[in-house]
Amino acid sequence: MKPASDTVSQALTALHETVLPTYARAPLTIVRGEGCRVWDDGGRSYLDFGAGIAVVTLGHCAPGPAAAAHAQLDLLWHASNLYWTEPMLRLAGLLSERLGGGSAFFCNSGAEANEAALKYARKATGRTRVVALEGGFHGRTLGALSATGQPGKWKGFGPLVPGMAFARPNDVESLEAALAPAADTALLLLEPVLGEGGVIPLEPAFAQAAQELAREVGALLCIDEVQAGCGRTGTFFAFEQLGIEPDLVTLAKGLANGLPIGALLAAEHAAAGFVPGDHGSTFGGNPVAAAAACAVVAALDDELLTSVRERGRQLAAGLSGLPGVLEVRGRGLLLGAVLDRPVAPVVDSCRERGLIVLSAGPDVLRLTPPLVVGAAEVDEALAVLAGALSA
Ligand SMILES: *Cc1c(COP(=O)(O)O)cnc(C)c1O
Repeated sequence: MKPASDTVSQALTALHETVLPTYARAPLTIVRGEGCRVWDDGGRSYLDFGAGIAVVTLGHCAPGPAAAAHAQLDLLWHASNLYWTEPMLRLAGLLSERLGGGSAFFCNSGAEANEAALKYARKATGRTRVVALEGGFHGRTLGALSATGQPGKWKGFGPLVPGMAFARPNDVESLEAALAPAADTALLLLEPVLGEGGVIPLEPAFAQAAQELAREVGALLCIDEVQAGCGRTGTFFAFEQLGIEPDLVTLAKGLANGLPIGALLAAEHAAAGFVPGDHGSTFGGNPVAAAAACAVVAALDDELLTSVRERGRQLAAGLSGLPGVLEVRGRGLLLGAVLDRPVAPVVDSCRERGLIVLSAGPDVLRLTPPLVVGAAEVDEALAVLAGALSA
């Protein structure tokens, strides 16, 4: 990898102000990735324990999805949704198989997948009210933002979509209260592990109570698996570990290994929602993204899912012995370490030491490496973290 010249990086830095400042970006320009590593424009390599934000499921430029996408690029980039395409149909079939039946709507992001769920639930129930969780995150578009239980993210963007209520995670009484005006709730929208909200796994008993309550009041249950799905927690869907059978599931981040995609899955038992003309997306089901996604889903076999659980246990055990770690939580390779200090300087220090990690809130370190991460890479990350936390 040839380091970029100083003049090239100066020219790029001058372009920073041409990008709207919606993110507080780190001073790092990533130019290449392979497996669990990325390289910056100076040729320095980093171990990537964020995988984007839980996106690069099989590692950067993974051969399977790369070959599928390359082959599809030579064949067909786009056809409108007025027609069928092969990759979209194959992906729908694979996801239906994983869900045990049901059907898919394809879009391009997690927020769009949740918007589709909100519309589907309104159409299917004839109602409008939505119950979600405090601290939950469902995306930045107005509907998904309105269902996001983080008031800080609403500031300056009201009026929001009306009819949202929030319950505390793993608090059945609070959920009962939120569902109390029973007659008009269309949708109960839950993350199986609250990702952005601090890596808080739902307890199976809470998830089961939520499903029961939703059925009782006639609301649809949608599990937002945008971050936790696609094998990240050690099962294809995170809800498989909760003993529930949701009506709707949303997927996005990890589904196509980094190409943009989102999906709403409706189970066979879910009340019927959409008919032709109800919803759409120009790019939804894009053949290149769908071809890559088929390769990702095919790769998530028992062997890889077992490895996710093993590497998750290794990482969790290592984290719990590090200085300043108060609690380790999460499932599989969606892990959070609650720190006794602000997390931001730790994230910076790790990056300076060649390790990319994420945060979730002010004091939770979030780790979401590619699912193909090896035992030696986990040890390497733990050693860097130990250094950063001891400094
Ligand atoms: C990231 C995320 C979203 C939003 O996905 P985008 O692709 O950024 O729109 C929605 N739900 C959850 C649980 C997420 O983690």
